[in-house]
Amino acid sequence: TGIYSSLLQLSDHLKVPTDPELGIASFVLSQFPDPYVAESKIALIDSATNQQLTYAQLHRSIRSLACALYHLGVRKGDVVFLLSPNSLLYPTICLAIFSVGAILSPANPINTPSEIAKQVLDSGAKLAISAPQEFYKLVQTGVPTIVTFHHQSNGCDSLSIEELIESSDPRELPEIKVKQTDTAAILYSSGTTGVSKGVILTHSNFIATVRLVRWYAEGTSSQDDIFLGFIPIFHIYGLGFFALGLFCAGITTVLMQRFDLQAMVNAIQTHKVNNIPAVPPVVLGLVKYCKGNSSLSTLRRVGSGAAPLSKELIEAFRRQFPWVELRQGYGLTESCGTGSGFLSDEDARAHPRSCGLLLPTFCAKVVDIETGLALSPNKEGEVWLKSPTIMKGYLGNEEATAATIDKDGWLKTGDLGYFDEDGFLYIVDRIKELIKHNGYQVAPAELEAVLLGHSNILDAAVIPVEDEESGQIPMAYVVKAAGSELTEEEVIHFVAGQVAPYKKVRRVGFINVIPKSAAGKILRKQLILQSQQQILSK
Ligand code: AMP
Repeated sequence: TGIYSSLLQLSDHLKVPTDPELGIASFVLSQFPDPYVAESKIALIDSATNQQLTYAQLHRSIRSLACALYHLGVRKGDVVFLLSPNSLLYPTICLAIFSVGAILSPANPINTPSEIAKQVLDSGAKLAISAPQEFYKLVQTGVPTIVTFHHQSNGCDSLSIEELIESSDPRELPEIKVKQTDTAAILYSSGTTGVSKGVILTHSNFIATVRLVRWYAEGTSSQDDIFLGFIPIFHIYGLGFFALGLFCAGITTVLMQRFDLQAMVNAIQTHKVNNIPAVPPVVLGLVKYCKGNSSLSTLRRVGSGAAPLSKELIEAFRRQFPWVELRQGYGLTESCGTGSGFLSDEDARAHPRSCGLLLPTFCAKVVDIETGLALSPNKEGEVWLKSPTIMKGYLGNEEATAATIDKDGWLKTGDLGYFDEDGFLYIVDRIKELIKHNGYQVAPAELEAVLLGHSNILDAAVIPVEDEESGQIPMAYVVKAAGSELTEEEVIHFVAGQVAPYKKVRRVGFINVIPKSAAGKILRKQLILQSQQQILSK
């Protein structure tokens, strides 16, 4: 039939809860360790301050904050915008928002004020919660209420999350009915084409994801394992693991505000970390800078996702850290972060370039791009996915939704790949426009719009260029106005002034005309080939 089904099974205790009235917060809280264990079992440790939170404290602060949000007027269906790097409070805030049936919309804190204003507007946020250092980015957005961490003495009369948690009584939280089909979060992704769009994820999407994270954690770790969390929780990868899934497996996580190689090594040593969900640039950092570092002796498992990991890097890592298991996983924001992965190290070693087996509950098709036919093993085509984790659609964008999810519920991933005879998935290329820099999404359409705002740029196209350190960098092909003296540096500087650092154009090529199809679509593959030839001839 051309349909690949997962070869993996969930054990009974992880089967789908059928109660239609079940929210992700109630589900996660119900999976916490039992009350006696929860009093002493540490859920989270702040790597910088060493502050710790037990499961019982986390439970209480989630309930208290939910109650405080309710008293502030946050109601079911209201969107709450969250702008912060990882912090001990981050998971509490997410779960409190879910508890009152409100909708979480997290953003990358290094985004510019105008990028943030766009998301606040698009998501329809009613309230924003911000880290103190990002507070100024929200002032201009007009979002009605702003609450920041730690009380600010900067003249703004914002409330503090800690004070809200301390001053409210969780017993006053009324019962709020949340259905599995209700929207839980809106995360942003450019999908296969165009600018960033709000990905609507429901409570049932998250429940399905959390069960898979728990299944993975239980299959690969013990409850005494320590995880390290620097993957940002505003991204689905961090949200699924560090704000939801690992709590269901009773794991202790050391949270880092952001990635820093030395701080990571210190945290591994101090807290005897065993497990690191990572991205390819972190794996490269370990290989390049941590040779012979004895402080990594406790490490047992490194996961890698969000972007491809090269065979050479995998081999170098295995040579250098023979005691550490390295496993790739694959997923998208649109599939609530899940897709494929490895449960066994043996499988991972035997299939070094693979992203693993389809996770339980998943089906897939590999579709020929020309003919639309489903392909048999070892043939490359677009990977389509179906599972209870697949998003509901893009916010306010029926056209993009219909182009991405077909009438039978298949998610068209925009990734080129194949399955081998044993069901292992290989992602070989990206058909969609998306560029990934250090695992972060960069939408070419967004940079093209910025470039076209320059008075001396007549036309522009942005493509990915492979880069060892970061995976990919955005390169712009630019058509300049007649007689213009525009330079590469000026173009780079112009874009850098308007976008977050990870979206910067880092290379520029000047061209007479941007190649386009009869329908006016940029022929990106042609430009990618051209850029590769230019690099080779240099
Ligand atoms: P995001 O929505 O930001 O998680 O981005 C999802 C995209 O990241 C996928 O569609 C892939 O293009 C890419 N991706 C994620 N994991 C992998 C992987 N293991 N190998 C190759 N590409 C990946």
